[in-house]
Amino acid sequence: MQFLRLHHGGLDYYAQRLDQLTARLWTAAPWSGGAVTDRLVPLKPGSILAPVEPSKIICVGRNYVEHAKELGNEVPKEPLLFFKPPSSVVGPGAAVELPGLSSRVEHEGELALVIGKTVRRASEAEAQAAIFGATCADDVTARDLQKKDVQFTRGKSFDGFCPVGPWIETEPGDLSALDLSLSVNGAVRQSGNTRQMVFSPAFIVAYISQVMTLVPGDLILTGTPAGVSPLHAGDEVSVTIAGIGTLTHTMRAPS
Ligand code: ZN
Repeated sequence: MQFLRLHHGGLDYYAQRLDQLTARLWTAAPWSGGAVTDRLVPLKPGSILAPVEPSKIICVGRNYVEHAKELGNEVPKEPLLFFKPPSSVVGPGAAVELPGLSSRVEHEGELALVIGKTVRRASEAEAQAAIFGATCADDVTARDLQKKDVQFTRGKSFDGFCPVGPWIETEPGDLSALDLSLSVNGAVRQSGNTRQMVFSPAFIVAYISQVMTLVPGDLILTGTPAGVSPLHAGDEVSVTIAGIGTLTHTMRAPS
């Protein structure tokens, strides 16, 4: 099934995508006790919101060998974790502002996991069972600020730096065998498969849960394949993951 959030009649709803044109409203998020209703609404491109409202977003750095190498980094022996704030989340079609503080903003197309159950100190099997579904994300990064600072916080956290969507696929197939690509203005810049990850999705969720309790709706970005490159005002970025869908957003000049 595909779950999304949409704006309809002045309100925001969780909904199930039935086809390209239609969604069925839910009373709340399916992972927080929501129930299906019999209300069908039209799916209009401008009405689709980010499919999650996470309490936290945990990201894994350097989880693909070729990407670690292209930035001159070693592959970590354990997952390298960092946060993006919930305020960085935007939905499909968002125009992400290039911050005036940075002169090099880059895309990072990633598989994003949505947590469906509260988990703490989970085994890998428990972690796998806690994954509600998967979606696409762009871990937008101010590379110059990331390199300048010890912590990644500034480089990863501007408003709009976490485009997510367009929906959550609950049956994406094997999370460790999904083709993933990112294009800018139609030209492919990143192309990989999640089997190239150093640490698997279930391992990552279990690992994070040793540190912090994960709650339903939390979002985990699993790292990016090689091919990151700078973005400019007017660029259109598309992240496509086989079996899930395509997330598209644009970039705009600082205001
Ligand atoms: Zn990333």
